[in-house]
Amino acid sequence: MIRINDILDKITDFNPEADLDLIERAYVYSARVHDGQVRLSGEPYLSHPLEVAGILAGMNLDDVSVASGLLHDVLEDGHVSVDELGEMFGQETLHIVSGVTKLSRLKFSSSQARQAESIRKMILAMADDIRVILIKFADRLHNMRTLEFQKEHKRARIAQETMDIYAPIASRLGIYWIKQELEDISFQYIEPEEFNRIKKRIRKDKDARKEYVESVRDIIQKEMDSAGLKCLVKGRYKHFYSIYNKMLTQNLDFEEVYDIIGFRIILDTTPQCYEALGLIHALWQPVAKKFKDYIAVPKANMYQSLHTTVIGPFGERVEIQIRTKEMDEVAKSGIAAHWSYKEGKSIDEKANTAYAWIQNLVENQENFRDPGEFMENVRIDLFPDEIYVFTPRGEIKALPKGATPVDFAYLIHSEVGNQCTGAKVNGRMIPLNTSLNTGDTVEVMTTKGHNPSKDWLNFVKTVKARSRIRHWIKTQEKERSTSLGREMCEKAFRKNNLNFISLSKTEEMKAVVKEFNFKTLDDMIAHVGYGKITPLQIIGKFTATPEKHESDESILNRLIGRVKKKKTSDGVVVKGIDDILIRFSKCCQPVPGDQITGYITRGRGVTIHRYNCTNILKLSPERRVEVEWDKTLPETYPVKIRIRSQDRFGLLADITATISKHSSNIIHANTETNEDTGVNMYFTIAVEDTEHLKRILSDIRKVKYVHDVIRLASS
Ligand code: MN
Repeated sequence: MIRINDILDKITDFNPEADLDLIERAYVYSARVHDGQVRLSGEPYLSHPLEVAGILAGMNLDDVSVASGLLHDVLEDGHVSVDELGEMFGQETLHIVSGVTKLSRLKFSSSQARQAESIRKMILAMADDIRVILIKFADRLHNMRTLEFQKEHKRARIAQETMDIYAPIASRLGIYWIKQELEDISFQYIEPEEFNRIKKRIRKDKDARKEYVESVRDIIQKEMDSAGLKCLVKGRYKHFYSIYNKMLTQNLDFEEVYDIIGFRIILDTTPQCYEALGLIHALWQPVAKKFKDYIAVPKANMYQSLHTTVIGPFGERVEIQIRTKEMDEVAKSGIAAHWSYKEGKSIDEKANTAYAWIQNLVENQENFRDPGEFMENVRIDLFPDEIYVFTPRGEIKALPKGATPVDFAYLIHSEVGNQCTGAKVNGRMIPLNTSLNTGDTVEVMTTKGHNPSKDWLNFVKTVKARSRIRHWIKTQEKERSTSLGREMCEKAFRKNNLNFISLSKTEEMKAVVKEFNFKTLDDMIAHVGYGKITPLQIIGKFTATPEKHESDESILNRLIGRVKKKKTSDGVVVKGIDDILIRFSKCCQPVPGDQITGYITRGRGVTIHRYNCTNILKLSPERRVEVEWDKTLPETYPVKIRIRSQDRFGLLADITATISKHSSNIIHANTETNEDTGVNMYFTIAVEDTEHLKRILSDIRKVKYVHDVIRLASS
């Protein structure tokens, strides 16, 4: 078991200014919290956080990381409160420990293996501080190193999870030593027989192999020297799992795996690389189709190198990579050469840059002497545009950042979206416009027959939700327009002594539909509802004789005139429709400014109700139409008037009541009282037009004791 002093020494070595006090306090605190707990290995539990801290110190991480490593499991059992931890070790440490704890609490079932990629992204998205991930790696690494003490039935599952989730993340982040160790330990538990077979065979001829590497390296080196090429030649073993993987994917026996050892030639300049390649190919016969020129055509991640496979000195295949020092640096600094090359996946440019940058950060921390600078650099957002959430059954769904439960509902199914009435996140009810966060478990409540709301368009983030909601509204509008159009037609026909319903079944009507270029009668009726054509245009087609047509036209024009006039004075607009009769309901008497809604009444156009009128709530919703007060109504204009009257009690009140009865505002009022002649009153009132004014004046004249009322010339 590593001791705290070993860790402190290691840290002092690379960072003399580290806050050792913080680490010591974390150690004492962790020891207290875990006191009495024992690992499955029989060791005191404290050994685990100590080993984790040791791994982190070995990676030259900062003091906060090491302290967080010591504390990474204290929140797990719930003995320690978040507040206490924050008070004792500061918000930064608390943030990291909470992040690690959150990751530990994610539970993945084996059925989710096919979602491995989503899980990886989810973990990365949840770790908003790179140190959270690094501590999680150290934690997993130590748990894997001690996996033999785990209960037998759990070993394979944990190993599989490590293989599927954690090793690939380490690979992407460019932390290859962790990747390889995690893979080799997992391999050992997932395929113990294969693992031991490979291990034995490599051990068996280890000395022979060492000799082999030396001899091949010597041959290459000599060849380069004789051509005057200064170079470095390296031979390297691959790790067990990658050998096994090669056997598996290429269906090879161990003996056939030719690149258990690979060679690399590193030179100064690009022309030298091609020269070296020529020498190698002259020396050993190249294997057809195995040559790749990534210098002329670099990979998307900027990886450059010449790859070739030749038949070596002992008749075996030898894999050789040739590149410059600079190219070697790029490959190592992890613009994810391994990741893209081995996994053969196309590279997301953005993520790639982020991973490369992270590896850079991990490798070059010595350069971050200033803790503030380091802090600025450890905050990560690898997937700035995406979040990952769980369904109640544990499936992972990716959504754009800012997505809401409504987006989630539509992602599950259009019907779930349409009928969505509420949502629970992590078991708690939340408003439908709440933004979801990575790691949330989202449950959508639906109600049969419930419909989407237009308001949802204000907050949904996905294209799918938006288009489904729009589609629903459009369908709904068509239904309404059809219903409205039918009413309008029936009424207009009746006024012209025609029966629309019986006519609609005739060949004549079919011809009219065709003439207007509609596919169906319903289409035509809907267009009447939309206000694109008028019922009168349709009626026009049914009135046969030319002379009669003339006179009918004038009747129609008068009708149109009447309808239009009526509409204007109503001051209400039915969405998308010009010619429709409007009535105001007697039950709730809406006035301008009230929130209103329209209801299509059989044969009487649209009746306007206040939005919350209890009567309309009882009526069938599909006959409701959206209406609004006509904002294009002429504005009101101020007009000055003079009223002469005999004075009396209540006179002023009666006059103002009369004015306001006509929905006119009094802008200004002034009265002069004279013992002899009575009272002169001057008002400035707001009127819409002269008609409006005329009506007001005529009513004021009817007020008791008023002599005369006149409009004064405006001053
Ligand atoms: Mn742990």
